Amino acid sequence: MRAPSYPVVLRVAGRRCLVVGGGTVAAQKAKGLVASGADVVMVAPWFAPESLALDGVRRIERRYRDEDLDDVWLVTTAVDDEAVTAEIAAEAGNRRIWCNAADRPAHCSVTLPAVHRDGDIIVAVSTDGRSPGLSSWLRNRIAANLGDLPSRVLTEAVATRSRLRALRSSEGLSWHDLFDRIADHDASGASRHEAERFLADAVAAPDAPEQASTAARRPRVHLVGAGPGDRDLMTLRAAAVLAEADVVLHDALVGTGVLDLVAPDAELIDVGKRPGRAVPQELISSLLVELAHQGRRVVRLKGGDPFVLGRGGEEALALQDAGVDYEVVPGVSSAIAAPAAAGVPVTHRGVAAAVTIVTGHRAEGVPSVDWRALAGVGGTIVVLMGVAQRALIAGELMTGGLAPDTPVAVVERATQDGESSRRCRLDELATLEAHPPATIVIGPVAAFDLRSSAAVSAIEALGPDAIGSDARGPGRS
Ligand code: SAH
Repeated sequence: MRAPSYPVVLRVAGRRCLVVGGGTVAAQKAKGLVASGADVVMVAPWFAPESLALDGVRRIERRYRDEDLDDVWLVTTAVDDEAVTAEIAAEAGNRRIWCNAADRPAHCSVTLPAVHRDGDIIVAVSTDGRSPGLSSWLRNRIAANLGDLPSRVLTEAVATRSRLRALRSSEGLSWHDLFDRIADHDASGASRHEAERFLADAVAAPDAPEQASTAARRPRVHLVGAGPGDRDLMTLRAAAVLAEADVVLHDALVGTGVLDLVAPDAELIDVGKRPGRAVPQELISSLLVELAHQGRRVVRLKGGDPFVLGRGGEEALALQDAGVDYEVVPGVSSAIAAPAAAGVPVTHRGVAAAVTIVTGHRAEGVPSVDWRALAGVGGTIVVLMGVAQRALIAGELMTGGLAPDTPVAVVERATQDGESSRRCRLDELATLEAHPPATIVIGPVAAFDLRSSAAVSAIEALGPDAIGSDARGPGRS
């Protein structure tokens, strides 16, 4: 069995590093070395544009020679020829120079991990050269869970170092305990000043660290967009705050995979609106305020984007009124993602230069949409919450001047189990089968299905401008 490898972090600044190869992979390796301040030399008979574009690199345009290894600390190869790779690796070995060979683990004395950087913190994931894909997948997972917490904890820890030392000796706490405390503090949005005060309190009241920690925590709520359903469409920030939440108030439309990101001991409160049952908005807002005042880390998780027809603004105002800090984490709105899932771009060069997002829901106290005027705006109309009113909407738009044969796409449960899409003409929308949650797209782009090979001819049928000049050669715009 092979001995396990020994991980290190290299300081390459000012040290010569050789990259053999001039292609895309070589350019990537060189770029990473340049970013760490290395004195980078590239050798290759030919350089790809990516390599030519690199600043701060010396390029030698010829085949590799052994003398290229003179004065080199680290060599990395990205060449097609296995024999050349073997030759470089052997010579590097003779000279005691560490060697990384892209895609050829057998010739590596060094393998490169997948890296997540956050300020001075480096998280490196290695499969010891066996599966770079798995390394980067795992790195993404870890990065999503950490968010920027570690570097914030580091900043805090450096700023309060002497106090931390005192705490450690007076209370016999481990560094881990202390970092846990700072992290809790940081997640609650406390400033450095407050963190220091907390540390001072903790020294003064060594018997009640838990109480001190809750009391010093500033109330804070995260208003988070969960995206259209599939949890892979959430932002890294959303995943990070979810993982740290004590309590999550979520909508009915939030995908189940999304809720798996919540810590197992966190409380889930379903405040989703369903037929026959609706939690009043005021109650949700006051619940948010109350939970925040209890010192809990609260996440309000909403489908799509919190501020796109999601009443996120009302919650933000209620929190502001109550003096509770909040952070908005935007999400991918179903207004964009649902059409995309059906192969419909909401704008398209030469076809639709604008997109209007409207609610089809008529509620008391909300000005209703002037559909007839909207018919004259042009571009694409995306209707959320419009299934029940679709007959009225189609009728009004046609009265306003939209052609009866205007293409329509209805996309249900986009990116979730049971996703489906149907197409029709505007004058058929009233009788088209449709079930909420669905997004209705009205306009020429609704005829597109970019997932199908027939897409290009369908688009071409719309006219010569529907395809960008790049696709048609020069002279068109
Ligand atoms: N803030 C949300 C929209 C809330 S309104 C966002 O930005 O996406 C709820 C409406 O969004 C639904 O009635 C439906 O029209 C649309 N919707 C939400 N999820 C959807 C999905 N997965 N597929 C299609 N439409 C969806």
